Amino acid sequence: ADGAQIRAALLVDGSGAQSVWRQRAGISCLHHDYDCAALTAEIALGAPHGQVARQVFLPDGPLALLPLPKPDWAALVWSLPARKAQALAACDESVFNAELNAAAREPFGQMHLIGARAHQPLKAQIAEAFIGPRLALVGEAAHVIHPLAGQGMNLTLRDIGALVDTLTETRRLGLDYGDATMLENYARLRRADALAGAFGTHALAEIFSGPTPARALAAAGMRGVGFIANTYPKLKDAFRRQADQGLGPLSGLFAASPLDDMPPPDAADTKKQR
Ligand SMILES: Cc1cc2nc3c(=O)[nH]c(=O)nc-3n(C[C@H](O)[C@H](O)[C@H](O)COP(=O)(O)OP(=O)(O)OC[C@H]3O[C@@H](n4cnc5c(N)ncnc54)[C@H](O)[C@@H]3O)c2cc1C
Repeated sequence: ADGAQIRAALLVDGSGAQSVWRQRAGISCLHHDYDCAALTAEIALGAPHGQVARQVFLPDGPLALLPLPKPDWAALVWSLPARKAQALAACDESVFNAELNAAAREPFGQMHLIGARAHQPLKAQIAEAFIGPRLALVGEAAHVIHPLAGQGMNLTLRDIGALVDTLTETRRLGLDYGDATMLENYARLRRADALAGAFGTHALAEIFSGPTPARALAAAGMRGVGFIANTYPKLKDAFRRQADQGLGPLSGLFAASPLDDMPPPDAADTKKQR
């Protein structure tokens, strides 16, 4: 902003969906506008969330409540037609609370708003190239996906892991960090995974915004998968690993995830019962 110039071997661009660096490099994007918006807010639940994220598939779009550190606070992400999201973000708090409780009562108990509401349009966007001359895109500068499956941040973490691996290898070989061939390797790995994530979530978003029978069938399928995964913990672990790791090799950065050493959530309860 002050006109100062900084010289570097490589610019890692994590400046989000509107990245000016991507635009300056002349990299265009493929777009899809979902013609709806995400209404977000912090909500007090009528019952403890138990560290479980829940999603309800409503006719207007999915409503997700994601656990926050307080046992009965959750982050609301509610996909709605854009005008309805705007109206619910601006209306009186009592009207908002009534609409929220009418939309999704079970199993959250009586809910009410805490703090501010916001809304933003939902879109999918993927950069036609993930690299440029001495430039590597990470996160939403490279890909924006529908939040329905909660995979945006995972994709971003995998970008960072793959880039760290690429740059570690670049240094090991004594090459320049901006080496085009090494960056190509990063782009090849990450674009395939991001495209798979974008198409997968796009397909889910289309099904869940489709006609009622298709939506009901898909919701029943999701409940079935959830039931099977909860019944067979090893299968649940396999699903979790797939969501964490995506396509391609797992970065050395995450190979020994601290999460792997955490006891299962019910371990403390099991101990208490003995
Ligand atoms: C409603 C909604 C719900 C979501 N829910 C989930 C979820 O449950 N799980 C999940 O995994 N993902 C979710 N996502 C996606 C997730 O938010 C993104 O994947 C994540 O934020 C990664 O984005 P980012 O860091 O690339 O970009 P951003 O979060 O946009 O961060 C970019 C940062 O760069 C800064 N910046 C911009 N320009 C410059 C500049 N020139 N110089 C310096 N800094 C700059 C910006 O101020 C900003 O802080 C959701 C997204 C939405 C919209």
